Amino acid sequence: MQSYDWIVIGGGLGGAALSYELAKVGFAVLLVEQNQTPDNATRFSYGGISFWSGTTPLLQQLGQEGIDLHRTLTEELGEPTHFRELDLILTIDPDRDPQTIAESYNACLHPPTLISAETAAEMEPLLAKPAIAAALHCKHGHVDPEQTIHAYTQAFLRLGGAIEWAKVTDFCWQGSRVEGVIASGTLFTGANVVVCAGGMSRALLRSSGLTIPLYFTQAELIETPSVEVKLHSIVMPAELKRFQMEADAAQPDKVPIWDQPDRAVTVPILDVGAVQLVDGRLRIGQISRTLTTPTATGERETSAAQMRHAIARYLPALEPLPGTWHSCLVGFSGDRLPVIGAIPHTQGIHVFSGFSNPFAILPPLARHVARQAAGQPSPMLDQLAIDRFVGTGTNG
Ligand SMILES: Cc1cc2nc3c(=O)[nH]c(=O)nc-3n(C[C@H](O)[C@H](O)[C@H](O)COP(=O)(O)OP(=O)(O)OC[C@H]3O[C@@H](n4cnc5c(N)ncnc54)[C@H](O)[C@@H]3O)c2cc1C
Repeated sequence: MQSYDWIVIGGGLGGAALSYELAKVGFAVLLVEQNQTPDNATRFSYGGISFWSGTTPLLQQLGQEGIDLHRTLTEELGEPTHFRELDLILTIDPDRDPQTIAESYNACLHPPTLISAETAAEMEPLLAKPAIAAALHCKHGHVDPEQTIHAYTQAFLRLGGAIEWAKVTDFCWQGSRVEGVIASGTLFTGANVVVCAGGMSRALLRSSGLTIPLYFTQAELIETPSVEVKLHSIVMPAELKRFQMEADAAQPDKVPIWDQPDRAVTVPILDVGAVQLVDGRLRIGQISRTLTTPTATGERETSAAQMRHAIARYLPALEPLPGTWHSCLVGFSGDRLPVIGAIPHTQGIHVFSGFSNPFAILPPLARHVARQAAGQPSPMLDQLAIDRFVGTGTNG
């Protein structure tokens, strides 16, 4: 039986990028993904690359590396990611103070510019001017998420990587060392296993008694088929509620709730936004919930009606379009940074998870992780290690 240098669990953006980068530096890599037809957070993502939004030296460096990498990724992978740079319009509601909201972005690598409702509506003709007091504007990167995964995966296969379509149900332990995984009843052995299972990372690790400070939201959205209506920009609220919800749901007093089934950790939120992919499909959303049972969702018809009602206010032309409700899990860690590295007190098992808004930073991080594994240390990864949560009351 072949033994791999690395077994990567999960074929979303995290697993696809990391398996490619590990193979590129010369490792023998097996990618294990449970669904041949993607049904994950990457599949339903808007694909926005917020390279401009970092407010710390770490995120600013990664944002710059990320946009540089995306600009050449199609060429490198030999398949299109459909990368482009789009106008991002961040809406400000009439009862909010535009100046104060604009100032809250001052620490960003490239702070967006405050524009009037008139200018925003000229930029995005589908936008209903009376719905907003003003908007913030900047250039945002964009890729087709499914194409990006496809491009990474094809390049990985060309490098000699292997893919197994199977669900990992257990790890193979020898004392405190992991020597492989059990997937659909078969043992696959490897020197290192890395969990890139997105919103399922927590449950997968818990099943082996490992408690890692990773959580998840159930995200709900509407996807339309390819339509003739043309949305020129990405439209989102300037005051996104999702990140605050993630921070609230990982507070020390909330952490014990995550181990109880059928609980809602926080109240659900709706961030009203929309994006159109190159092929004409629109993604309209999004509701986020923190339900402790991964398979739980909101009620499909009620949620879809809520999202349609909300988008009608800002982008009325989108409200009547045909579309299907979808739900998926999005992982997060609570401090807006992913969790990367070896799991303490074990050997051979790592995580690369907790990415809640990763299109800017994940591809360069996958590259840093692979290079470090190949012997080129990357000190920035220390800031993303699991042990940053020790003593905070949130490490589990
Ligand atoms: C509506 C929406 C809009 C978004 N917009 C943006 C955006 O504009 N910009 C941005 O940066 N981010 C955005 N995100 C977030 C982003 O899409 C996700 O954070 C990211 O795609 C997560 O990638 P991942 O690889 O960590 O997880 P996933 O894409 O969820 O992949 C995890 C994979 O692991 C597999 N898996 C799980 N358990 C097992 C197992 N036991 N065995 C085998 N395989 C397993 C799953 O099948 C899945 O394929 C958005 C998300 C949503 C839902």
